[in-house]
Amino acid sequence: MTRVLLLGGTGDALRIARQLGREHVYSLAGLGKVPDDLACTVRVGGFGGSEGMARYIEAQRIALVIDATHPYAAQISANAVTASRAARVPCWALRREGWQPQAGDDWRRVGDWAELTAALAAFERPLFTLGREPLAHLDDIPAHQFWTVRCLDPHEGNARVRILATRGPFTLEGERALFAAQAFDVVVSKNSGGSATEAKLEAARERGVPVVMLRRPPLPAVDREFERVADLLEALRIAV
Ligand code: NAP
Repeated sequence: MTRVLLLGGTGDALRIARQLGREHVYSLAGLGKVPDDLACTVRVGGFGGSEGMARYIEAQRIALVIDATHPYAAQISANAVTASRAARVPCWALRREGWQPQAGDDWRRVGDWAELTAALAAFERPLFTLGREPLAHLDDIPAHQFWTVRCLDPHEGNARVRILATRGPFTLEGERALFAAQAFDVVVSKNSGGSATEAKLEAARERGVPVVMLRRPPLPAVDREFERVADLLEALRIAV
């Protein structure tokens, strides 16, 4: 039997987890919703670094690790490769393609928070769609800016910031209404790829609003890489 450890926390990972039988394990960091309707075992919380994950792989007799975490979750992806090597099991990864700018798009690519704030300096009403990172910078909001931060975590706003604690997927109609009501002049985004949060790019395009795009972090090489869930599931059907 090939016992699989699936590292998740994304919609794509959940789609894979739904196809796994009871002998397999779906692992979540514990930040978002924990599904309670899966046939496979669900475990929640960190492993204690790559060494902890390697110990887990050995103790649970895992024969294959699948990294289906978010493309910006670089630490767990690095740990998955290190731990798999240490435990001598293969590591596969789902590496979803990023979005590409289309005609009419105005993307400003940045590598870190300092570059991001520099790129935002000329704007007044940014919409942040990066997750929780902006919450650590609420005391640094420039006097000429009003921020809207969309993330999973409920958090108190103030005169300079509004927090939208909502979870995707987001529809184009919803994004159009939000952009019209809030008059954003720039959107800040990760290049997550996929369709669940893509509508903001279309809404920005329609309104001629620039996008400050945080570059993807480098991820380690794996034994097999898949762009599409269907291809990974097919390979899994053959391997398991
Ligand atoms: P990260 O920086 O790569 O990981 C931080 C630590 O969280 C890891 O070292 C690990 O702790 C634990 N962890 C992460 N994913 C785990 C998993 N699937 N199972 C068990 N432990 C896990 O990750 P992050 O960027 O904070 O993201 C956390 C989770 O949210 C990820 O699973 C990711 O798929 C999901 N997510 C992230 C984003 C994003 O933009 N970063 C967006 C959507 C969803 P130990 O070292 O103790 O093992």
